Amino acid sequence: MKLQAIPDIKELDEEGELDPMKEEQSNPSGRITRRYPNKLIINVTNACPVYCRHCQRRRLIGNADKNTSKEDIDISIDFIRNHPAIREVLITGGDALLLNNNRLEYIFNELSQISHVEVIRIGTRVLATLPFRIDEELACLLRKYRVQLSTQFNHACEITPEAVRAIDILVDHGVLVRNQMVLLHNVNDDKYCIQKTNEELHKYRVINYYLFHPKDVKSTKHFQVDISKGLEIMKHLEGRTSGMCKPTYVYNAPGGLGKVPLVPMENIDCTEDRYRFTTWENKIITKDFKH
Ligand SMILES: *Cc1c(COP(=O)(O)O)cnc(C)c1O
Ligand code: SF4
Repeated sequence: MKLQAIPDIKELDEEGELDPMKEEQSNPSGRITRRYPNKLIINVTNACPVYCRHCQRRRLIGNADKNTSKEDIDISIDFIRNHPAIREVLITGGDALLLNNNRLEYIFNELSQISHVEVIRIGTRVLATLPFRIDEELACLLRKYRVQLSTQFNHACEITPEAVRAIDILVDHGVLVRNQMVLLHNVNDDKYCIQKTNEELHKYRVINYYLFHPKDVKSTKHFQVDISKGLEIMKHLEGRTSGMCKPTYVYNAPGGLGKVPLVPMENIDCTEDRYRFTTWENKIITKDFKH
């Protein structure tokens, strides 16, 4: 776990880019990142309780903690108000739950008055890094605006009794909690480790949503893994655990081209005139094309 929190001399390696997702280039207004037609991100702060060494937004984080100004929040909300295609808004950072409840409520309230905004999602790692931030008051606030929550647990060790308490408060108040795990070399790039972590999350009613392949961000090269490793892990999870413990494995296409779901290669193959599938026990089955 320490690898996620303590700097490593390998971070001085200059390879990789600071912004491979070209988030800076998908910024139409305010503190917005928009890469898709009907959903976008607002960055509300660059502060986090713990600065993860593998962070994909390192370029924004660390030098000085700074919440986005009210002016920039308002500009971002105006953009959403003027773009009826936007049905979902992700509020993230840094860690969005480092804002105080008043500031959060201001944002939720403004967004909830925009009729085309159907879903508000918040991105936070406090469940793992500052679980005491979650209390009844916050859970009621999230419930009031039906805010859904995405978090990041990368290893079963992070699911401490304090984290479980935080998850319970949220879920008991009807807040959906989803996990977006990052595959990280020497932290969790092991099929049994990921199975165990996902099963623990499932047990505590967290939805296993994504397993992210690590992005090629500068100073995080020592966390890189080959895609074959991720595919092997996904293949392992099939049939050996609940479908609820099997997130979608995703590669973020460079240049801001979006998320690409990755599926073990043997699962489906189209050869000659038929599909060929490999089941979880490696039995081969075929199905004819429908002409
Ligand atoms: C990941 C991401 C989203 C949310 O995508 P989902 O697949 O709906 O979770 C939205 N906007 C940007 C720019 C993203 O990178
Ligand atoms: S909590 Fe998220 S944004 Fe903050 S340092 Fe960790 S990965 Fe980066």
